[in-house]
Amino acid sequence: MPLFRTYLLGGLVILLASCQAPIGGGGRGSTYGDKPGPQGFTTVIVDAGHGGKDSGAHTRGLMEKQLALDIARRLKSELRLGFKVVMMRDSDHFVELDDRVRTANRQSNAVLVSIHLNYGSRRRAGPETYYWRTDSYSLARRVQQQLSAAAPYESGNAGLVRRRLRLTRNPTIPCILVECGYLTNASEAALLTKTSYRERLAEAIARGIRAQAANGDAGMGPLPRPIYAPPSRAGDARG
Ligand SMILES: [Zn+2]
Repeated sequence: MPLFRTYLLGGLVILLASCQAPIGGGGRGSTYGDKPGPQGFTTVIVDAGHGGKDSGAHTRGLMEKQLALDIARRLKSELRLGFKVVMMRDSDHFVELDDRVRTANRQSNAVLVSIHLNYGSRRRAGPETYYWRTDSYSLARRVQQQLSAAAPYESGNAGLVRRRLRLTRNPTIPCILVECGYLTNASEAALLTKTSYRERLAEAIARGIRAQAANGDAGMGPLPRPIYAPPSRAGDARG
């Protein structure tokens, strides 16, 4: 009965494999994000957060949606020579988060970088970069390192943060969300009103993206283990 035994064994292996398959995707062919980080990607989707009816954070006469679009446009100029750049929005209009995810999913060999400005206690200052997926860790870390070097001071900011958001969990491509600085901090808000500082931030983000495209995960140490969780939905914190 060797054939039968092989068949049984094969069935057992398949059974074991399916037991290990995580809920919500994973394994070979998964679009979940449990793969290594990308290298040699050719497209960058630049997502200016908020827009239109959704101003995002607004304080001290500054509106997050406007600053995010300005930095996104500068980032596009920085990247234009080396990448195909897709702007999620290039004017002041509202785009649903799930539509942003759908736009991202139409691109291949691409990464998504979402640009935001932060709000919180008045004492907090400095950039933060959010990721969730294993395949987005190195990109997030590289961008955060560059932004941190570009920021003149940091205070109580969270730095690199692993958080499940609609734009860090749901797209099929590697995806990160950048909070460029705190609008609620007087000094940082004053800096963000300056064209030269917004340009500096865009250059820093571009350096992180270029380093990821050139090197992949090299030099980033062990990657974080995938955390299998369902897609983020409306109503999730800051989703
Ligand atoms: Zn925002």
